[in-house]
Amino acid sequence: MAEKQDFYDLLGVSRDANKDEIKKAYRKLSKKYHPDINKEAGSDEKFKKITEAYEVLSDDQKRAAYDQYGHASTDPNFGAGGGFGGGFGGGGAGGFGGFEDIFDQFFGGGGGRRRNPNAPRQGEDLQYVMDLEFEEAIFGKEETIRYNREETCDTCAGSGAKPGTSPQTCSQCHGAGAVNVERNTPFGRVMTQQTCPTCSGSGKEIKEKCGTCHGDGHTKKQHSVKVTVPAGVEDGNQMRLQNQGDAGTNGGPYGDLYVIFRVKPSKMFERRGPEIYYDMPINFVQATLGDELEVPTVHGKVKFKIPAGTQPGTTFRLRGKGAPRLRGTGNGDQHIKVTVVVPKEVSEDQADYLRQFAKASNYGEVNEQGDGSIFSKFRDAFKDKSK
Ligand SMILES: [Zn+2]
Ligand SMILES: [Zn+2]
Repeated sequence: MAEKQDFYDLLGVSRDANKDEIKKAYRKLSKKYHPDINKEAGSDEKFKKITEAYEVLSDDQKRAAYDQYGHASTDPNFGAGGGFGGGFGGGGAGGFGGFEDIFDQFFGGGGGRRRNPNAPRQGEDLQYVMDLEFEEAIFGKEETIRYNREETCDTCAGSGAKPGTSPQTCSQCHGAGAVNVERNTPFGRVMTQQTCPTCSGSGKEIKEKCGTCHGDGHTKKQHSVKVTVPAGVEDGNQMRLQNQGDAGTNGGPYGDLYVIFRVKPSKMFERRGPEIYYDMPINFVQATLGDELEVPTVHGKVKFKIPAGTQPGTTFRLRGKGAPRLRGTGNGDQHIKVTVVVPKEVSEDQADYLRQFAKASNYGEVNEQGDGSIFSKFRDAFKDKSK
């Protein structure tokens, strides 16, 4: 089995990172490796790994155990094997008991660390990837998106109990969500606490389950929400929509929805923040004599005069013709970079004119001395370009 990578290293955070830093690091990485966004081979696997790391490090209990025992603490068999006694009395503890048991065994097992099973808890955050055309990101748009999320069950209002009945305090744990179990371990008989097998930790027992949600209190439903994409968003930007995630439990609030924008590239323009870059091809006659041209911008065509003697690679700026500044006011600029297109073929007539032109310019002799004539500048510029 391959050595597992350290969870802190995976997320790129220090061992004393706080919850916020961990969350931020995870968001950033999940954005990068989310299989919906990143189609590269292996990104799926990487996404799973960082998610696993995040699940552990974002949970105080799991993190403490991980710090103490490393990856063994996340192995579901951790409690059962390895000479720690094994043999779950009382029929196991609903799948995740192993780890909690060993944790409680070493850390005192008091109920203090265990979450109150009846405390309201916020629902899960969800992610939605929204594809945008290049121009849509610049000008913004409104779009109603649809996705599935857990919603509070209408039939039972989230209680999980059949209408007319209500959940009872669990008869096995009397509402604590956990039960004490005595076990044989190499250290002798040890009292450990484990998740109540009757209520799976909720502290409540539903005698007659709601027919719609089968006791979960939640049902998966298609949900729609109108998203106003702000003008000027960029590829990879995220937007948080409060309470548009999954339903909470015990009356807790809904989680949030993170809309991730994925912007299609343009064939014509390149964009960095509010600045837009455009390569403008002109011919060498236009470059030499100057010309008035129509330049495409995302705001429509703009008339633009290039001066006589414009050199290849020269950049011009069209103020305010870029994208809106997402934070701040106004637009960025459009930057025009001149490329001079040299004809690949010329007719005999054209060649004659060029030869005459070269003669009139003393092209050849003077050029070798680098006198700065138009032709030598041309040639030098192309030398530069071909580097
Ligand atoms: Zn119980
Ligand atoms: Zn229900």
